[in-house]
Amino acid sequence: MKSLVTGGAGFIGSHLVEYLLAHGDSVIVLDDLSTGSIANLGAVRDHPRFRLVVGTILDPAVVLDCVSQCDRVFHLAAAVGVKLIVEEPLTSLRANIHGTENVLMVCSETGATLLLASTSEIYGKNESDSLSEESDRILGSPLKSRWGYAAAKGIDEAFAHAYWTQFRLPVSIVRLFNTIGPRQKGRYGMVVPNLVGQALRGEPLTVFGTGRQTRCFSSVVDIVPAIVQIAESTRAYGKAYNLGGADEISILDLAELIIRETGSTSEITLVPYANAYGDGYEDMRRRVPDNALARELVGFIPRTRIDAMVRSVAQSLTTTVDRDDWIMTQAHPAPVASVAVS
Ligand code: UDP
Repeated sequence: MKSLVTGGAGFIGSHLVEYLLAHGDSVIVLDDLSTGSIANLGAVRDHPRFRLVVGTILDPAVVLDCVSQCDRVFHLAAAVGVKLIVEEPLTSLRANIHGTENVLMVCSETGATLLLASTSEIYGKNESDSLSEESDRILGSPLKSRWGYAAAKGIDEAFAHAYWTQFRLPVSIVRLFNTIGPRQKGRYGMVVPNLVGQALRGEPLTVFGTGRQTRCFSSVVDIVPAIVQIAESTRAYGKAYNLGGADEISILDLAELIIRETGSTSEITLVPYANAYGDGYEDMRRRVPDNALARELVGFIPRTRIDAMVRSVAQSLTTTVDRDDWIMTQAHPAPVASVAVS
């Protein structure tokens, strides 16, 4: 197989590229290196079946050139991370809407199959016990960047489904819930690398809001094989599949776990959302995936425990490459209260 991975120099993309090469694919990566980095591809850059194209999904000619050389496309290129989306809403909307339509259009011209990476953000503020693929979306105003992003990713899915319905484009969708692991960067807002970096540096861990909000973190090591299996299932065409972690944890408990796992002497600091992301920012109190569809289709079971995930992130952050990234991570927002850590 010849695979194209858009966004292949990013966190999840680079793990996917390694997996595809290890399973015999030839792989082209199309990445504009805006949030991804060549360093993420360090393990594969000299591989004989690997090629990197530095370019943007916003350029249809570049997309056509790459897709026409491949049998299948994994479309992961997107603006990611709450921080980036809030700070650069226009860049994010353009990449996520126009870029994705370019990829869909070109795939339908060349006959390549397509896997679209979507996100649990599309469920918005739905705080159900578990979110199935049919769950309603509860979004705030599109004038708030976070909901504009959720709307854009929803449009991506609707575009993909429309290409399936009207042109029979073989496209399937995965909705990723808080995927974490080595090479993820804290500088775009993701909580685990951010807090692990703070713990390793002995700085206060910045927990936003009350810290009682919960997430279900999943390991990139569990997610990547499931993404490929879903892409290879003809039953998945025209459908979306949740891929998320098994265990719900509050951000405060996560911060305490990170301190324990890293042996840090850091304290925990509560930071109001307004200090972190500006006025009007909204967070969801909880987000819990129902993985039943992916379990039935490809036997997906998220096995990696959160403590092991935290240790692998900590190990990754102590490599030279990622240490450079911490240094560039901007200073944490002003605290209002400190919580003693037992
Ligand atoms: N968060 C935090 N401290 C940080 C970064 C994030 O407390 O330094 C919180 C954030 O407000 C959210 C949770 O951690 O409630 C997960 O944030 P992330 O951006 O990783 O993912 P998402 O909000 O998309 O679930």
